[in-house]
Amino acid sequence: MQEYTIQLRQKIQLTHNMISLVFEKPADFEFTAGQFVQFLVPDGEKVVPRAYSICSTPSDNELHFCVKLLENGKASTLFAAMTDGDSAIIRGPRGNFVSTASSPLYFVATGAGIAPIMSILQDELIHKKTDTELYLLFGVHDESDLFWQQRLDDLTNTYNNFSFNTTVSQPQSQEWRGLNGRVTDHLDNHSNGHQFFICGNPDMVKDVRNILLESGVEKTQIHFEIF
Ligand SMILES: Cc1cc2nc3c(=O)[nH]c(=O)nc-3n(C[C@H](O)[C@H](O)[C@H](O)COP(=O)(O)OP(=O)(O)OC[C@H]3O[C@@H](n4cnc5c(N)ncnc54)[C@H](O)[C@@H]3O)c2cc1C
Repeated sequence: MQEYTIQLRQKIQLTHNMISLVFEKPADFEFTAGQFVQFLVPDGEKVVPRAYSICSTPSDNELHFCVKLLENGKASTLFAAMTDGDSAIIRGPRGNFVSTASSPLYFVATGAGIAPIMSILQDELIHKKTDTELYLLFGVHDESDLFWQQRLDDLTNTYNNFSFNTTVSQPQSQEWRGLNGRVTDHLDNHSNGHQFFICGNPDMVKDVRNILLESGVEKTQIHFEIF
């Protein structure tokens, strides 16, 4: 698998523990929306690979990532210390969490799990100009974990085949106007014609998948990526 050295153009703080990294895209790097790369992270004498999904689209001339910074994580420590102009080495692209169907798409994401979904969603809307119905259910723990709400609002205002809901499992104030609870509490508006794309932590993916299977959705209609 080919390796590329990429240079950081911009680092954006999204929340208290989530950052967005914008790298220049090598001219010969090609990928399909929803795929990930491995960052090769120096660790003493060796390097360790860490998987991160690309959240920009194949047509963009930058590679965007959305990274949850984990305490003492090796890649997290590297990313936290990086400044504009620094280089990183990636290997890839990899992964089969990609959309090939022309049927309505139903996305379920929690936290950084929105990364590959943002790539697929924008690719479908902006570049493929799909007119099929796209719906996103996005879950976070509390209001301090919210990000990209304005960006998603802008997409709904521009594309009337896209809609989304954000659900907060532990809201901290009365001011939160979105949905309350876990994503598993809000899966009632799907039809069996949807293709499902689920991404996030292992328990969430398992729970959502089980609910969908129990409601009669076929295994082949459920695509998932576990972080
Ligand atoms: C296909 C795929 C795509 C992904 N895409 C993304 C993405 O877009 N964005 C994103 O944020 N994440 C993504 N992930 C998840 C990400 O790869 C992992 O969270 C990764 O482990 C983070 O790397 P790290 O080096 O920062 O942390 P690691 O070094 O892997 O450590 C993870 C956590 O475990 C703890 N830990 C490590 N070793 C020990 C130990 N010996 N004892 C106790 N605790 C320990 C660390 O302190 C840290 O909190 C993806 C995962 C996969 C599989």
